[in-house]
Amino acid sequence: AVDAAILLHTIIDVPGYPRPGIVFKDITPLLADPIALAKVVQAMADPFKGRIDKVAGIEARGFILAPLLAARLGTGFVPLRKAGKLPRATWSENYELEYGQATLEVHRDAFAPEENVLIVDDVLATGGTAAAALRLVERAGAVPSGFTALLDLGLLPGRGVLTGIHAHILHTLA
Ligand code: 5GP
Repeated sequence: AVDAAILLHTIIDVPGYPRPGIVFKDITPLLADPIALAKVVQAMADPFKGRIDKVAGIEARGFILAPLLAARLGTGFVPLRKAGKLPRATWSENYELEYGQATLEVHRDAFAPEENVLIVDDVLATGGTAAAALRLVERAGAVPSGFTALLDLGLLPGRGVLTGIHAHILHTLA
C-alpha cells in the first residue's frame, strides 16, 4: 500500500482553478517526484497483477499514469479520448458535467472480445467520467473489470458508480 502522506504532500491544492469555488488537485508535483511516482505506480498496478488484459487511460491525466501501469502489468494501453481526437471508427459515450456535456471515445477495434480492462484516471470527483468510461469499454465488447485512481474527492455519487467492479483508489478525502 502507498503511504497517504506521500500523496498528500506531493499533490497541491489550487483554490479557484479552473473556476472560483473549486479547489483543484494538481498532481504534477507528484509526477515530478521519482520516489512518489514509483510508489503510486506500484500501488495502483499491483492489485490487478495477472487479472487484466488491457489498461485503458482516460484523457488527459489518465494518459500519464495508464501506460506506466500497463508496462508494469505486461499489457497494452488503450486511450479513451475526448470527442473527435481518434482517427478511425469509434464508439462514443456522452456524460454530464457540472455545466454541459462531454464525450469519451474509443476505437471500435481497441479491445478483443471479453478482454478484462483496467480503467485508469487521476482523480474521482462525481464519478461521471468513470461511469462513462465503464460504459464505453462495455460498448466496445470488453469487460470493465477494474478501476484505479490516485484520489477520490469523496463527492456524491463518486465511488457509488463503481459498485460491482474491483475499484482500488489510493486515498479518499473526507
Ligand atoms: P468526475 O467526472 O468524477 O466529476 O471528475 C473526474 C474527472 O475530472 C477526472 O477525469 C479528473 O481528471 C478531473 N478532475 C476533476 N477534479 C479534479 C481535480 O481537482 N484535480 C484533477 N487533477 N483532476 C480533476
